[in-house]
Amino acid sequence: MRNLTRPDIVPPTLTSAAEKGYAISSGHWRNPDVRGLLRAVQGQSCAYCQSAMEGRGTPGTVDHFRPSSKYEWLAYRIDNLLLACNDCNSRIKNSDFPIDQSGAKAESDDDLPTEPRLLLDPVADPIDQLLDIDYIDERFSFRNLVADQDSIDFRRVRKTIEVLRFAKGADPTYQKLRIRALGAIVKKLDRHKSIKLSADQCAEVKLSACRWQPFGEMVQRLIRFHLPETDVIELCPTAEEECLWLIDDLATMFEEAPTTDDAERQRMEARWCLAALFLAPPNGINETVVRDRLNDLGLQSEIEAVAAQFAK
Ligand SMILES: [Zn+2]
Repeated sequence: MRNLTRPDIVPPTLTSAAEKGYAISSGHWRNPDVRGLLRAVQGQSCAYCQSAMEGRGTPGTVDHFRPSSKYEWLAYRIDNLLLACNDCNSRIKNSDFPIDQSGAKAESDDDLPTEPRLLLDPVADPIDQLLDIDYIDERFSFRNLVADQDSIDFRRVRKTIEVLRFAKGADPTYQKLRIRALGAIVKKLDRHKSIKLSADQCAEVKLSACRWQPFGEMVQRLIRFHLPETDVIELCPTAEEECLWLIDDLATMFEEAPTTDDAERQRMEARWCLAALFLAPPNGINETVVRDRLNDLGLQSEIEAVAAQFAK
């Protein structure tokens, strides 16, 4: 899990839902404008476990952080939606959204800030201060960073580790995925410490440290932990590089006309994602950087027209 920042824009599906009151059973939160916005926040990585959503079965599921069955009024709200892999999505659902015994479930927006939920929210909580991996342990086990065991923060991290099966041995498939991805990076970093990686190898490490890539945030943390500042500058991408890679990756969807419904759906999602990046460039990136790249790719007018449909 990593800290995510949602842009302050609303996809048209959710604006319509607020105006018309869609039924929960209609499932319109799966529409490409909603998915595109979430993709702009998360890229390819699951909001909870950071593994590749595609790698675990589907291109990710739109997940209700607070389940729509219990929090009906949040079913079409952007502040309650995330993209998750199927495994995390079903685990969050099955958890029935645990609440600490010190308080009660929220019944309206007014109650949300004080609701003692026991799941970490990657948008609302300072994840980097609460949950981390062990960089020395070869299994890269998760660690609860909260020192005060009587605090709700401690119980929240503990419950999140339990629900998402982050603990050692709880989900061998996920553990293997994480160890494989991060273990390969540690080997490269060790090599860099002794004989220095080639320029191409450095570029590979840098790409895998992009936070929109699966495990990208963990890779960045590994680099910062293992190497001195000069190497960190060489191997960690800047926010601008990360964003431009995401744009370039999405732009490949526009190279050829889609021939299947699935390809068409992916292209629509990519279009909305680019529009969200255009309207609200992430991490303080200057908007001209995004505009210029879209212009170079010949996509600026198409994306600008889509962007105009978001509500601010
Ligand atoms: Zn996941």
